Amino acid sequence: MTAVHRALRRLRQSLIRRDGPLTRQLVLHPGSFGLGRLPKHLVPDQITSTVCGFCSTGCSLNALLRDGQAIGLTPNKRYPVNRGVACPKGWEALAPLAGPGRALRPLLREGGELVPTSWDRALGEMVRRFKAIQAEHGSAAVAFLGTGQLPTEELAFLGSLAKFGMGMRHGDGNTRQCMATAAVAYKQSFGFDAPPYSYADFELSDVIVLIGSNLCIAHPIMWERICRNRQERQIIVIDPRTTETASAAIWHLPVRPKGDLELLYSVAQVLIANDWVDHDFIAAHTSGFAEYASHVARFSPEAASAATGLAAEHIVQLAKTIHEGRRVSLWWTMGVNQSHEGVRTAQAIIAICLMTGNIGKSGTGPNSITGQCNAMGSRLFSNTTNLLAGREFGNSRHRQEVADLLELDASLIPSEPSLPYHRIVEEIAARKIRGLWVVATNPAHSWIDKTGMREVLSRLDCLVVQDMYDDTETARLAHIVLPAAGWGEKDGTFINSERRFGVIKKVSKAPGEALADFHIFQLIAEAWGVGDLFREWSTPEAVFQILKRLSRGRPCDITGISDYAALERAGGIQWPFPQAGPDRCSERRLFADGQFYTEDGRAKFLSAEPRPLPEQPCAEYPLLLLTGRGSSSQWHTQTRTRCSEILRRLAPSELYVELSPADANALQISSDEVVQVASRRGEVTARAFVTHGILSGQVFMPMHFESMNKLTFPAFDPYSHQPAYKACAVRISRLD
Ligand code: SF4
Repeated sequence: MTAVHRALRRLRQSLIRRDGPLTRQLVLHPGSFGLGRLPKHLVPDQITSTVCGFCSTGCSLNALLRDGQAIGLTPNKRYPVNRGVACPKGWEALAPLAGPGRALRPLLREGGELVPTSWDRALGEMVRRFKAIQAEHGSAAVAFLGTGQLPTEELAFLGSLAKFGMGMRHGDGNTRQCMATAAVAYKQSFGFDAPPYSYADFELSDVIVLIGSNLCIAHPIMWERICRNRQERQIIVIDPRTTETASAAIWHLPVRPKGDLELLYSVAQVLIANDWVDHDFIAAHTSGFAEYASHVARFSPEAASAATGLAAEHIVQLAKTIHEGRRVSLWWTMGVNQSHEGVRTAQAIIAICLMTGNIGKSGTGPNSITGQCNAMGSRLFSNTTNLLAGREFGNSRHRQEVADLLELDASLIPSEPSLPYHRIVEEIAARKIRGLWVVATNPAHSWIDKTGMREVLSRLDCLVVQDMYDDTETARLAHIVLPAAGWGEKDGTFINSERRFGVIKKVSKAPGEALADFHIFQLIAEAWGVGDLFREWSTPEAVFQILKRLSRGRPCDITGISDYAALERAGGIQWPFPQAGPDRCSERRLFADGQFYTEDGRAKFLSAEPRPLPEQPCAEYPLLLLTGRGSSSQWHTQTRTRCSEILRRLAPSELYVELSPADANALQISSDEVVQVASRRGEVTARAFVTHGILSGQVFMPMHFESMNKLTFPAFDPYSHQPAYKACAVRISRLD
């Protein structure tokens, strides 16, 4: 353990005292808590703050700097999101910058090997090959895949450069894998992708219903906010597994996997049948309620019991608890989103809030929790399936607005949205897309049914991977690798789950020849011959001013934020924040006036018939595999969290499979035994973990391990096209 780590551990212990002055003094005067005894080069000479680069909570971290280089991180006590605490990933956020596998130089595949080359040659080859593909097969034959890990300014630059500058028609992001369902559900119901809440609502609700969300593990600092709730609160968890969050709840409803839609319809049926609804709110602010009531009428608790696996009286009790709550909030994340009917499930959550008037008031709301640090920025500004600032590509007025605001010819803006991620993959498989630019994401690991994905990527004529690591599964397949700076090595803004813009800063120098993605986009614009289109895009903060312009008059209007300094002074700012907005306080929620973004200003009730699981267990594959986050110290594909010794020690080091004692007995498997898990698509080995936390007939595996997605089944929600990672049929057997 280094001296800095020892000092930080002391600091962590001190932070357990949340009573204030001592902690603040420690953060502001590091010399006074022991760092003064460190060698001089380890004593910070400056402190600045930056938003964490892992999850969507958007915690602020103090970066302890020495000669402009970060030597440690502590949570920012004054930031309204995390108020002086951070999860293990936040504490260890510098480790990935010094981790193995950093891309240090551009690489070009020659003679089958990736070999170092110059930036000029790498970019020249990228431009030459992509242009050649477009000349022969049309401009749509080259596409891009981005990520919710990039700052908003880089996302906007990537989407604008690719589409307006390089003529691409199709591009999507890895947000498709986690948040597309929530985005589409809100858009259809509210007229705009608008999560309505503030984190303060965690503390103000008296009934908190978490659906498909293991908040303790996936969003520990949001869970911390719930723990600060001083109401007479009830926490109810709806989840097939007895997760850490379910264990801490007052009530856990172990719904059958993907029985959530029928459960929510049944709760609505009970609310309506008992007249536990807010008629005034429904009449004044919604549309489609009569049809919705008619749709859910047949989902009585008795009828829904079989599909949900829950007793009818428990469904009635859930509805009664929602009815009796004064401020009821329903929160969801991947358990809902990653489903073959995720959008309608999310809208069934929205419907319960609408019919009970639990929206637009403190402690209420149908609230989706995002995954990646800037998934929300991606949803608004990545220019993929939505035109910049939540506009429509198919709307000629919207195209002209953007053309005028960016001073470009409207004919450069595609008149159709991009194909969604899985359709891009299909087009690659069909050899219609032949060039792909992958920025800061790792589809060869994370895409559903990855065996198929790797084979598909290998069909490309040119795969360019721009990433901070050159040893990812995707980078290893690339023809060209562009070395990029990571979080902490560049500037910009993130938007967190509660719509809060926060500033990220360069607190460390990128290694080798790696450059900020922003800088790489500038170089590509020049190399492609469209540098003039992006002259104004000179720095991230200059692009922030462009984003403000693009947001004017939109639901996400941020014209009232003058600059990065204003964001920092305010502790981040939630959108909307228009110039003349009346509401300037730091914690704000949407729809307080009952006005939604639809044409008639009303929120819509939307429903559909529940559909069976796309892949049902059968005699050959009798178990249902659930996937999800394994621990709070692992992040997605572990590309970054594997770089921290502390995070590695806090998480299981190998793939494991949770199974029930009954199934373990039947299969004669004991805990800790290495077993084989197989689906129709592939097989993996994993260590068995026998636990009462999972019901018989189901097994759970964490998503972070490289082999995991050999098993998953590629089914998609029909509206959001989000992959249904959560359920597929598998079998488990002992190794011979
Ligand atoms: Fe970072 Fe999320 Fe942890 Fe906060 S909760 S420190 S944003 S990873």
